[in-house]
Amino acid sequence: MTRKSKRSGEFELIAKYFAPLAKGEPGALGLKDDAAYLKPRPGFDLVLTTDAIVEGVHFFPDDPPATVAQKALRVNLSDLAAKGAIARGYLLTLTLPSGIDEVWVAAFAKGLSADQAKFGVALFGGDTTATPGVTTISITALGEVPRGQMLTRGGAQAGDDVWVTGTIGDATLGLKLLKREGFDLAKSHRQLLITRYRVPEPRSKVGPALKGLAHACIDVSDGLMADLGHIAEVSNVGIEIAVHDVPLSAAAKAAIQRGVELGELLSGGDDYELAIAAPSSARSRLLALAVETGVPLTRVGRVVKGRGVTALAADGKPVRTRRMGYTHF
Ligand SMILES: [Mg+2]
Repeated sequence: MTRKSKRSGEFELIAKYFAPLAKGEPGALGLKDDAAYLKPRPGFDLVLTTDAIVEGVHFFPDDPPATVAQKALRVNLSDLAAKGAIARGYLLTLTLPSGIDEVWVAAFAKGLSADQAKFGVALFGGDTTATPGVTTISITALGEVPRGQMLTRGGAQAGDDVWVTGTIGDATLGLKLLKREGFDLAKSHRQLLITRYRVPEPRSKVGPALKGLAHACIDVSDGLMADLGHIAEVSNVGIEIAVHDVPLSAAAKAAIQRGVELGELLSGGDDYELAIAAPSSARSRLLALAVETGVPLTRVGRVVKGRGVTALAADGKPVRTRRMGYTHF
């Protein structure tokens, strides 16, 4: 393929599959210009975050293209949620192995389109390029928060409660299943865990409602222990969690009965739940928020003076978790 024909192929691809994703967003200029503009609402700060996902690292070569697209977008929307921000849109850089498979691109764009409707975002622009390597999707998400109110990792205070949304450890079990690190589970449980790995659920309703309630927030991407460690470090506090209070799905409980260690779930990544430090005065409002959003919020521990994250067993004694962090695969 000559450079010229390859370039025109790229333009056709953008016009056919990606320009429709920019519809309804005037600042995107129909993806026909070199740049887009975004006018933040008066009194709001722009919140910016970027994350790439790489074939063989964050997704499998035979994962459905629609779920690959959704994971790429959602990990970024999760970061915005953790900042208390409302998502506005995103920029996309799609790096594909040479010899673009148009069927793959079409399904990928369809996945994005479905999620744009679900989360109320539009494509502002991006780039496509060929590579001798593997598929890589880089997304920069753009959101907004009322001025000065972005949640950070840095505000946790001794005496705060520690909460998590949803359930913990499902994605790491889904990854184990896809890697065929066999453990025997009912089909419905297997499907739930694999979906949790492939298509995380960013807590986009909970995050923005935490402003004025939470002192600190993070999304659980590296593993609950590691991500609470980030809050502890930046806030200059310690965190204690009661391991038996950590919410688990029925599928995860079944996996534990089949011999998977609880510590693996506490340190496994990719859940994209929110971990929150909030004063005890916020308890009733957080529980009401769980009811309003339909997203469970569970109190799992507390912030203390000191450093690091300590996992406590039912008897209150520290337990050692097998791994503190998580490095994809
Ligand atoms: Mg994050």
